Amino acid sequence: MIRPVPAIVILGNGSLATARSIQTLYPGALVHGLSARVDGADRVYHEFGVTLRELYRQDTPIIALCAAGIVIRTLAPLLLEKGAEPPVLAVAEDGSAVVPLLGGLGGVNVLAREIAAHLDVAPAITTSGELRFGTCLLNPPSGYALGDLELGKRFVSDLLAGESVRIEGSAPWLAQAQLPEDEQARLTVHVGHAERATAANELLIYPRCVVVAVGPGVADLPKVIGDVLHQANIARQSLACLLAADTEMADPTLREAARELGVPLRFASAVGSLGELARDAIGQAVSIIGDDTISVAVAEQPLDPMQIGRPRGRLAVIGLGPGAAELMVPAVKAELARANDVLGYETYVRMAGPFRADQVLHCTDNREEMQRARHAFELAAQGRSVVVVSSGDPGVFAMAAAVLEALDESTDVNWHNVDLEILPGVSASLATAAQAGAPLGHDFCVLSLSDNLKPWSIIEKRLDLSAQADLALAFYNPISRSRPWQLGLALDIVARHRTPDTPVVLGRDIGRPGQTLRVTTLGQLTADQVDMRTMVLIGSSTTRVIPRPDGSTWVYTPRSYGDKLNPAR
Ligand code: SAH
Repeated sequence: MIRPVPAIVILGNGSLATARSIQTLYPGALVHGLSARVDGADRVYHEFGVTLRELYRQDTPIIALCAAGIVIRTLAPLLLEKGAEPPVLAVAEDGSAVVPLLGGLGGVNVLAREIAAHLDVAPAITTSGELRFGTCLLNPPSGYALGDLELGKRFVSDLLAGESVRIEGSAPWLAQAQLPEDEQARLTVHVGHAERATAANELLIYPRCVVVAVGPGVADLPKVIGDVLHQANIARQSLACLLAADTEMADPTLREAARELGVPLRFASAVGSLGELARDAIGQAVSIIGDDTISVAVAEQPLDPMQIGRPRGRLAVIGLGPGAAELMVPAVKAELARANDVLGYETYVRMAGPFRADQVLHCTDNREEMQRARHAFELAAQGRSVVVVSSGDPGVFAMAAAVLEALDESTDVNWHNVDLEILPGVSASLATAAQAGAPLGHDFCVLSLSDNLKPWSIIEKRLDLSAQADLALAFYNPISRSRPWQLGLALDIVARHRTPDTPVVLGRDIGRPGQTLRVTTLGQLTADQVDMRTMVLIGSSTTRVIPRPDGSTWVYTPRSYGDKLNPAR
């Protein structure tokens, strides 16, 4: 089973060498460096606390090259709200100490040992059971599940108090442990998939060797599965995954049942009975019980669900925001982290990175939007997790509509079965408006001045009517080399309805290196002040400009028409 890739977090250049050395142990791990103090990190962050807490919340293992106290204080507010937690380690910046802090059940001591061995120091392991027995009994390897944590803690205390233990069933990972084994012992480590009443003298460990294959239309699935397993005397904890025919892929009840049971959901091509579906997908000796609605397959060895059938493919169309990492929404960051494939215009894909070595990038030209959308569905239909990247918001003159157009045109059921989600971003008009103040603080209208996908006559009509309606205006795609004259014409149309002193905001490369923000007026605005990387915001009749202490200005459109509310007054 794949272990999650850790994040290596550093605060200064002094730790970079140690970070790079640790990085060689974990393919795909990125070094996150504080923007002001680290040159050459893989990923730049601006606030240590925000970054560390975000990684922790996303269950990313954290290797922080700084004082243990800093890490403790930073994560302290989150500790009570979390059940299972990722491994968190502090490593001295010169690599002289490796301190596992959190995530004992997530394998922090395993990581600590690996890193310490690599750095040639002793790990600061403080877990008594682990020190005495050389393994954490409460953290069996992947493929096995612990029965009960609280009983387990008691069990380990008894062992530490000097009792001996015997092992029932197959526990190959305990062969190297230094357990005080005795055939007559009262304490027993019991490994097996049969349902079993808990007892204080038994540590129950369940091999995840059971797959439940589900037919279509079963009501109250989690309960039915629970009942079937119970009747067959099989422990729920031994369930490795749910399996269904790939024709059922979009069925939400399957997804909910898998979530409720806490197991992955996998799909395989339906040929023959449910039992055959399960047997084919598992590919090892199994016994099958059940019928056409539910079939339970029990394998001889623990199963890796990632090797069984395939998952439902996922396609997320994401918005990066204007460019700056801190303006990217957390859901988008999480989506980028889980992606197998990333598609988009090369500039934006680069902005979304860096990526791990296992992530495949498909960079294309900006004009190949439909081709990109279709390619994304082809990849997702194979069960991959695919991200299509847009700048700003994907629904604003960007890829979300193109992806839905491609879906609309397709009759391929595999495309329609893909788990499609659109994740929003901060659009350029909003990012620009925020820097200028609140020029869009009242009703406003968003227009693209590009006549590539719509006739110019429509643009003229919309400009005329929206300016007449006294809406503030936000122009995307205001001008380009192939569209040199359109902006001038647009401004002429607006000028019919606005005075020359109407405030105008020009935001160029907002949220990106070298950004500029200019406040001018409609009378002074000329097309040569604008390029295709500029956002043009034009005020309404009420938009105002007020000074800021630094000599620049705030631009805002009041929420109310004030005196103009009732002109008769
Ligand atoms: N989906 C994007 C817009 C794509 S259209 C979004 O929601 O922001 C491309 C146009 O958006 C550009 O021609 C420019 O007018 C504007 N734009 C995009 N990013 C910008 C940025 N960082 N600064 C200023 N304008 C930007």
